[in-house]
Amino acid sequence: MDIFGDLSGIRLTQREELNSLSLIRTEHPELINEVLLEGICSLTSKWNKEIALHINRSGRISGIAIGQHASVKLPPVRSRESNRLRCIHTHPGGNYRLSSVDLSALESLSLESMTSIGVLNGEITGAELALLTDAGTINTIEFSPKELKNLNYAELLTQSSIRSAVITRSLPEEERAFLVSVEKEELAEELLAELAELARTAGVKVAGQIFQSKRFGSTSSYLGKGKLEELNQHLQNTHANVLICDDELTPAQLRNLEESTGIKVLDRTGLILDIFAQRAKSKEGKLQVELAQLQYLLPRLSGQGQALSRLGGGVGTRGPGESKLEMDKRRVRQRIHFLEQQLQEIRKHRMTQRLQRIRSGLPLIALVGYTNAGKTTFLQKAMEQTRAKGENLSGENKLFATLDPTVRSLNIRPDRQILMSDTVGFIQKLPHQLLNAFLATLEEVKNADLLLHILDASHHQALEHADTVHAILKELNCADKSTITILNKIDKVKQSTDLNRLAQQLAHPIPLSLLQEKSLSPVWNMIEELLP
Ligand code: GDP
Ligand code: MG
Repeated sequence: MDIFGDLSGIRLTQREELNSLSLIRTEHPELINEVLLEGICSLTSKWNKEIALHINRSGRISGIAIGQHASVKLPPVRSRESNRLRCIHTHPGGNYRLSSVDLSALESLSLESMTSIGVLNGEITGAELALLTDAGTINTIEFSPKELKNLNYAELLTQSSIRSAVITRSLPEEERAFLVSVEKEELAEELLAELAELARTAGVKVAGQIFQSKRFGSTSSYLGKGKLEELNQHLQNTHANVLICDDELTPAQLRNLEESTGIKVLDRTGLILDIFAQRAKSKEGKLQVELAQLQYLLPRLSGQGQALSRLGGGVGTRGPGESKLEMDKRRVRQRIHFLEQQLQEIRKHRMTQRLQRIRSGLPLIALVGYTNAGKTTFLQKAMEQTRAKGENLSGENKLFATLDPTVRSLNIRPDRQILMSDTVGFIQKLPHQLLNAFLATLEEVKNADLLLHILDASHHQALEHADTVHAILKELNCADKSTITILNKIDKVKQSTDLNRLAQQLAHPIPLSLLQEKSLSPVWNMIEELLP
């Protein structure tokens, strides 16, 4: 029998072992013959690959495929026989839950049923079976290893009572992320909280989180072996279908994690790119996001380059170049070149605009600050109070509501007009390639005559946030620019000593609450004082 899929690294003798297994017939009313089941589980562990079988109504195997990672590379199906085929496949790594890709395959191929079997060290950890109901919904039912072996499949197909008793899961499945960080213990909690916020900003639910101390992390699979097993247990319990790691993963770590968990894996950079992708509005912003995505993707494409196609949509695959995320390496390089040229054109144009601005003689003030500190709120208030014309900006309680550079002109005094630009928020561990990709949004910072640093003074890590901002300013060679620090959100500050401490450590502090305070004139006064 033909075996489809990725046979690389599989010896001929083992291929023959699979071939002889494929002759075993499953008896009515079993789901799968027990010897056959044990055979594919043992091969799954040996190869660390998925094995997918199609079994027809007479109990014969009609197709075999071997898959890498979390992909379901199913054997080809003739459409008129599909609804009499059950697909049974293994998940190396032990997670027996059906993935969203499995469920969409069940639906799009209209198979009779789809079963995933978790396999760890040759042993079955459990199984999940899904059936398509007449109403078009999907019913899933979980089995322990013992239940799986004693399953009366024929009865399951006919018994409507069982069908209605099982859990109903409908497509499209929401994305539930499990977060992992490998960090020093004292940092992990804060970084995970920020990662959770990022995940929510991307529109993903957070199902749980764990961290591993940096000492025990692994260079090949990110997490150590014991932690991986703990993680797989959590993934099963929480039904998470996306794993988000706090660090930038190497291509090998990404692959290994996907193999051992059987679900989609994203790292911090991939997540941030996804958020940028959803939020870029201007032409420049979109080009930059696509460029950053492709640069990130390139080293992660395998030789043949199927890459993200297996992810089956959702977080990590969205963006201006969405359809292009399935290109091969050569075409990715071409596209990167094209994007770089386009961006250069746009930057030239911006340069002309900037020259015009310099000629207009107006001072430029750049808002900087940690994400969610209140930069957009500030600009909004400033525009209200100075009655300058301009479109309405909306501040959202999400990270990165501001992606594209926005410059507004404000009359802070009858005889004083300034330009103010909003910037993208800074965060800890902002990936380097992103910093480069978004340098353009920060170009306004480089060109500014004065910086207005907005800080969420009510945040328990306010000082650390300020440090992050200062570190990034230093990278932009802007550390020496005059800076006013707005200690914002004082309505939420509980200890006045905390506020005093911040005021002592930061340049030109002005405590205020953008939500409660009426007037921004202390800020305008300070600007007057500091402007050359
Ligand atoms: P940005 O990411 O720095 O642009 O932050 P935004 O301007 O989008 O503000 C983030 C969130 O903080 C929004 O939900 C604002 O309503 C809220 N916010 C801004 N200023 C204050 C304030 O003085 N007090 C409180 N409690 N919330 C504020
Ligand atoms: Mg903003």
